[in-house]
Amino acid sequence: MIVHKQKIEKESRSQIEFIDITHEVEEAVRESKVKNGQVLVFSPHTTVGISINQNETLLMQDFQRLLYKLVPIDERYSHDLFELKSGSKSDGRSNGHSHCKNLILGVSEAVPIEEGKLLLGKRQNIFMVELDGGRKRDIIVQTMGE
Ligand code: ZN
Repeated sequence: MIVHKQKIEKESRSQIEFIDITHEVEEAVRESKVKNGQVLVFSPHTTVGISINQNETLLMQDFQRLLYKLVPIDERYSHDLFELKSGSKSDGRSNGHSHCKNLILGVSEAVPIEEGKLLLGKRQNIFMVELDGGRKRDIIVQTMGE
């Protein structure tokens, strides 16, 4: 069995941003030489989610609105008090809302591979969802199979 790991490096520009990484994931799968198996796309961050949906500009705006509605930025978050108190341990960001948004999205998606191709639906794309940008981020792509 092949187990292949690759890192995708991205830099986000806005606080919330849907970044399509489908092409990079396909590339990683190609490099792994796995023909049948699955690929795991994993975010090692507490404020970056992974999600599969349609890459359509207006829909991205709907998703952003939904995330802000479900987890409003001007709500009171206890985590923000912790970040202020803990001084050097803190990254200095009042990002309680970002962590909460990430809780909804989750940090990974798995996609089946057949004949070396991702079995994504016609309109499905893989997104890294930045929830506390802009900053540099790594996404881990682990391909497993034969
Ligand atoms: Zn935080």
